Amino acid sequence: MVEPLPHVREIPPYVPGKPPVARAGLTTYKLSSNENPYPPLPSVRATAEQAVTAMNRYPDMGCSALYDALATKHGVGTDQLAAGTGSVALIYHLLSAYCGPGDEVVHAWRSFEAYPIAITAAGATGVKVPVTADGRHDLPAMAAATTERTKVVLLCTPNNPTGPALTHAETTAFIAGVPADVLVVVDEAYVEFVRMADPVDGLALLRDHPNVVLLRTFSKAYGLAGLRVGYAVAAPEVATALRAVALPFGVSSVAQAAAVASLAAEDELLARVDALVVERDRLVAGIAAVGWTVPEPQGNFVWFDLPQTDAFAAAAGEAGLAVRPFAGEGVRVSVGEPEATDRLVEVLRGMKRPT
Ligand code: PMP
Repeated sequence: MVEPLPHVREIPPYVPGKPPVARAGLTTYKLSSNENPYPPLPSVRATAEQAVTAMNRYPDMGCSALYDALATKHGVGTDQLAAGTGSVALIYHLLSAYCGPGDEVVHAWRSFEAYPIAITAAGATGVKVPVTADGRHDLPAMAAATTERTKVVLLCTPNNPTGPALTHAETTAFIAGVPADVLVVVDEAYVEFVRMADPVDGLALLRDHPNVVLLRTFSKAYGLAGLRVGYAVAAPEVATALRAVALPFGVSSVAQAAAVASLAAEDELLARVDALVVERDRLVAGIAAVGWTVPEPQGNFVWFDLPQTDAFAAAAGEAGLAVRPFAGEGVRVSVGEPEATDRLVEVLRGMKRPT
């Protein structure tokens, strides 16, 4: 047998959110993958279907229409952009371009479960810094964990799965203390859902610090999770490195077309995000009304920090809700349809609160 490299055996599994189990007479809801519950916009769908007609051709490897639209949106050069098969691909690209055996990557934990997977796959070593009791990044501890071996620091804001987001002030102060030869990745997968005082202004960070890399995705606010398209905004030298290591033709023609059409329909899509934020607020109020507490949610999900994760998931499942348990640590529930919110609150009302 040919063996994979030893570190490949160490790669932790990615546990995808499960679909709901059908229940007779009950509409079920998938709240397990932080997806956008709205169906595709007709304009986006029509553009994607048009792109399907050319499926015998390779996509535009230079993603030119997408880069043009993103450069306009963000006020950056097209040479500052690198697209990939979801923003998770950009995490792989970053780590493969900048890290190898012996290098360390500092990140909060619990955070996005793909981080330790991608770090281990790159042959690097992850340094997990526990989040605070209220689910926030412990930036002083992350600064202390950054050593001469550190190549990359991953910041996740809002943090998946715990929910809170970083402020601009604390992020600026953190980056000021990180050596300029360490990349600071700001994973903004849920940025469109943030409603807080002093939110991170990623582009301002990037203007002041060329070692900052912003990660964005079309999977959440833009509702294109199934098409797999995300991107990085970075200094031109970093974007060049990311494009160099990327899988050739990684972003399909359909994904590129749908992403461009989504940017053209941004107002409509962001109005849906506003509606989801209203739903998030209603969910938070409902959770508080039945005596539970969650860390401040700034994404499209809430986090229940409790050890009885299987019991919670089973109770939600009985009510037709698929949620995402992280065994023994907590349960993440995506914000979705109003009926799903009402059912979740009823589930909580019927459950024993953790003491
Ligand atoms: N970053 C974070 C924090 C996420 O939660 C996710 C998706 N769950 C991603 C990145 C990756 O999203 P995608 O690959 O769909 O763009």
